[in-house]
Amino acid sequence: MKFKGGYNISLGGKPVGEVVAMPHPEVLYLPLQSRRFVFGEICVEDGQRVNEGDVLAIDVNNYSVGLLAPRESTVRLNQVEGYIVLEDAARTVKHQEVKSEGTKQEKLLNLGAWQWFYDAYSGELPNPFSSPQAIIVSTVSLEPFSARGDVQIKDNLSNFTRGLEQLQSFLEYQPIYLVVPDIKSELSKQIGEQVRGHAWVKMVEVPLRYGCDNFAVLARRLGLKRSEGSIWAVRAEGVLAVDQVLTLSRPCISRMISVGGPAVSTPVHIEIMAGYPMQLIKDGFGLSSAVRIVNGGVFTGELVGTEIKGIDTECRGLTILPEHEEREFLGFVRPGWDRRSYSGCFLSSLRGEFGERLTTAVRGEERACISCNFCEEVCPAGIIPYLIHKYLYGDQLEEAEEIRIDLCVECGLCSFVCPSKIELMKEFIEAKDLIAKEKEEIRCEQEKK
Ligand code: SF4
Ligand code: SF4
Repeated sequence: MKFKGGYNISLGGKPVGEVVAMPHPEVLYLPLQSRRFVFGEICVEDGQRVNEGDVLAIDVNNYSVGLLAPRESTVRLNQVEGYIVLEDAARTVKHQEVKSEGTKQEKLLNLGAWQWFYDAYSGELPNPFSSPQAIIVSTVSLEPFSARGDVQIKDNLSNFTRGLEQLQSFLEYQPIYLVVPDIKSELSKQIGEQVRGHAWVKMVEVPLRYGCDNFAVLARRLGLKRSEGSIWAVRAEGVLAVDQVLTLSRPCISRMISVGGPAVSTPVHIEIMAGYPMQLIKDGFGLSSAVRIVNGGVFTGELVGTEIKGIDTECRGLTILPEHEEREFLGFVRPGWDRRSYSGCFLSSLRGEFGERLTTAVRGEERACISCNFCEEVCPAGIIPYLIHKYLYGDQLEEAEEIRIDLCVECGLCSFVCPSKIELMKEFIEAKDLIAKEKEEIRCEQEKK
């Protein structure tokens, strides 16, 4: 596979491989909404005692995927708006087998494993009852501060390969592409040993440049066409979830997430469950109010408001950034010994590798495009961000479409390297939404006629 674009970003605060146990929560706050899901149909009553793995609510627009109770507990429906609160949560997981009738697909949906799957091109939840043209399994996570696949599978290698075998049962002759960062690494060799003899697993190495692990980019590079059927994409934790459900008949209720970023003194992975109280995480990591918390990685995550009470069902990591509070004296003339720039124009380019301390400061660099071309160089989708920006600036949506704004995978790399700090990704997301809306309106009008 040939890769164009991507950027190897060296930022301080990446989570190490250590997995830390967190204190037991007495109360869980399960958000009824996450990035892809809206659990609008409540299946339990206020005051009801539930067991771990019971379905609390479902998302009717997403194949009725369920929000599961992570522990035996008592339901409170009206305590906090937007959440199901679970009180008196039992201390331990029972690891009980659950009798789930139905097909394998129904079990994945009902026991919480299907939530880890994506359609490679759209990023949405794929149809579990469809037959995919291929499955992409990625052990690579290149967004700084995100949970690492190697940490998740290093002590669960046999579960991982069993999960791959379970996935294979959904396919006939179609392949599973197993994406690894380095085919010669010890972990890749161990995985290779385990899947030896499984001709349906094809190992694929990707360069360690952010953006190259994006599922849509991978699908395109693998030559998998959107028009030829869906492509299921799943990360290491999803394969472990498949094993948990289909081999062990247990609901997926715990998750390993990362807590990283320059405001965390000891960036690590933690094992928790959906609904884990945000306050316990803040206390556990000694986070002051002078930080910004991002749900997800630094490029594609969402800023967490102060009102957030618990971890949602899709959270893969928290990125903590320090607020930039103090004014930098003559900041604009600083030579940049401790600041990285894609252009290499700061003194830091003489230092070699170092982990830059990222803050929330934009350092006053907002200005017009200077045609430096950096955004095009790094774009893993192979499009020309500055040109699209120019067209959007002039309200020329059709022209932006012609030069394939639709191929943008929303990785945020162009915004990161842009020396003018133009919010390119944000612009492109808004423009794509507008184009989709206009097309829908045209379709509706044509239908009426
Ligand atoms: S244009 Fe889209 S795909 Fe390309 S770098 Fe920017 S956000 Fe990423
Ligand atoms: S990186 Fe920013 S300044 Fe450079 S060409 Fe792209 S949009 Fe223009």
